[in-house]
Amino acid sequence: MSFWCERAWLAQPGGPGVVESVRVETAEGRIVGVELGAAASDGDVRLGGIVLPGLANAHSHAFHRALRGRTHAGGGSFWTWRAGMYALAAALTPELYERLARAVYAEMALGGTTAVGEFHYVHHRADGTPHPASEGGPNAMAEALRSAARDAGVHLTLLDTCYLHGGLGTEHPGTAQHEPLAPEQARFGDGTVEAWARRVDALRAAWADDDRVLVGAAAHSVRAVTPDELREVAGWARRAGAPLHVHLSEQPGENEAALAAFGVTPTRLLHDAGALGPGTTAIHAVHLTDDDVALLGASGTGVCLCPTTERDLADGLAPGLRLLRAGSPLSVGTDQHVGADVLAEARGVEEHERLATGRRGSFGPATLVEMATSAGHAALGRPDGGRIAVGAPADLVAVRLDTARTAGTDPAQVALVAGATDVSDVVAGGELVVRDGEHRAGDVARMLSEAIDELWTATTP
Ligand SMILES: [Zn+2]
Repeated sequence: MSFWCERAWLAQPGGPGVVESVRVETAEGRIVGVELGAAASDGDVRLGGIVLPGLANAHSHAFHRALRGRTHAGGGSFWTWRAGMYALAAALTPELYERLARAVYAEMALGGTTAVGEFHYVHHRADGTPHPASEGGPNAMAEALRSAARDAGVHLTLLDTCYLHGGLGTEHPGTAQHEPLAPEQARFGDGTVEAWARRVDALRAAWADDDRVLVGAAAHSVRAVTPDELREVAGWARRAGAPLHVHLSEQPGENEAALAAFGVTPTRLLHDAGALGPGTTAIHAVHLTDDDVALLGASGTGVCLCPTTERDLADGLAPGLRLLRAGSPLSVGTDQHVGADVLAEARGVEEHERLATGRRGSFGPATLVEMATSAGHAALGRPDGGRIAVGAPADLVAVRLDTARTAGTDPAQVALVAGATDVSDVVAGGELVVRDGEHRAGDVARMLSEAIDELWTATTP
């Protein structure tokens, strides 16, 4: 297939930027030719506006989408949000999750996402026992997500999450005490790292021949795994050559609990457990000391920022620029999906920096595009993704420059302006998934409202 782009965002000798009249040739899901200054020909699919590489949504919990616009009664604290989240988690079945995730990933695709990192921890039945073969087996939930991503036309990196404890006890300061999983968390846990690894090994084997999906690892947080368990999970990821993701210091409470139990920050705990490094991505990284920033940067650990979630849950402002300068590549994710707009997340990183420092322009348009594209794909174990170049996956996102929002904008600065609703066309793995703002799967709003209603109905006994 060939695509003719009115303008495209390409690597240039002086840095990435806008090039006019570009033909992108694709075959078997990859880009096989990039021709500059090309005239459109009859066989080309025409992409107007400016064509960016496919966007990567590096941090998602798909089922959290059902909470959007439902947790603000009475002010809506982090805790009212979490109570709703647990109610939803308890009601999920593989069938319900597949329908919801299909709609959620389709919404992401409409906004230009071509690869998603699903930080997946709802593994088992509500009572914590594995799904039997009749319900799809121990990886039934992961299979539901794979099927959903395929129908929605997005690449999936399933970050299979090790989640073994309910929290970090602070009753006896100086002694590390991880609490058992609470009943509402039972279905997240595999019991031991060994059991988690056995299940994930089986999943990797089952998905080995599917080039649209990858299996990576996650440790939920230093609250949910002990330092010894963290070391084992990190070892598994290294041996597998798989990405490792971990929630880090989203709320000050996590730092307080780690300091009380271990006398060190969560970042230092990760470092001491051998869990930092270029294959690792820390999610949020909001509440960091100077030492934490130095440890993350010097180890080349990536950081995935989720600004709309960090605003929505009143987490705080992450030190984005300091992390980047220290050596941490930055990616972005929509996390609990208060929005499904990767461009807005990237822009949010710069906006938060402005609020925190009183300065504009810490992250220019090229850096924001990099966060939303190549850095995000790299964090998801797709190091060749997120660029329009020969050999890269054929993922393209056309952003309109003629909407009421984008009209009059300098195309080179579109990352500071455009959002999901300005995306007209999306190509993922060489397939046209979104055309003229319509998803190939149909009416995404309807898919979402039906799946969300169905799930909330299932939460009421
Ligand atoms: Zn998260």
